[in-house]
Amino acid sequence: MTDPYDRARDWLESADGLLITAGAGMGIDSGLPDFRGPGGFWAVYPALAKARMDFTRIANPSAFASDPELAWGFYGHRLQLYRDTLPHAGFARLLALGQQLPHGLRVFTSNVDGQFQKADFSTASVCEVHGSIHHLQCTENCKGRIWPADGFLPRVDTSSCRLLNEPKNLS
Ligand SMILES: [Zn+2]
Repeated sequence: MTDPYDRARDWLESADGLLITAGAGMGIDSGLPDFRGPGGFWAVYPALAKARMDFTRIANPSAFASDPELAWGFYGHRLQLYRDTLPHAGFARLLALGQQLPHGLRVFTSNVDGQFQKADFSTASVCEVHGSIHHLQCTENCKGRIWPADGFLPRVDTSSCRLLNEPKNLS
């Protein structure tokens, strides 16, 4: 039986393009939590554990209506975490590998963290199927577009997971 790493290397050597599919596991080596299971999620957000609130209940548009401070606190904390995180060396290795192929590379990711772009992947090469935390949009989609969250500098009380300042750059 062939060693799986040898087989992967053979495939890469004969490939003419690279499609990278990524999920939460991609960020682990950069030090990001993967939120797998309520245990992992609640370890990062004790305030949500206390409220017995799992990921699907807070990562949900209705949370912005029912408890805006908490929803903004949760997203604000994650936004800051992803802004502060440096992509691990694997991103640069994948980029170098894909760039030398005749058809280059594309990324299809469920991650909202923007780590591929931070690792110098071009915006056009990254498809973020679950959206991006680095952008804002209206919950009623009244503008029909998204916009960069750049002007939003969240201050979050980590013990309560609540936003302390007013959300900025909302239009
Ligand atoms: Zn609106």
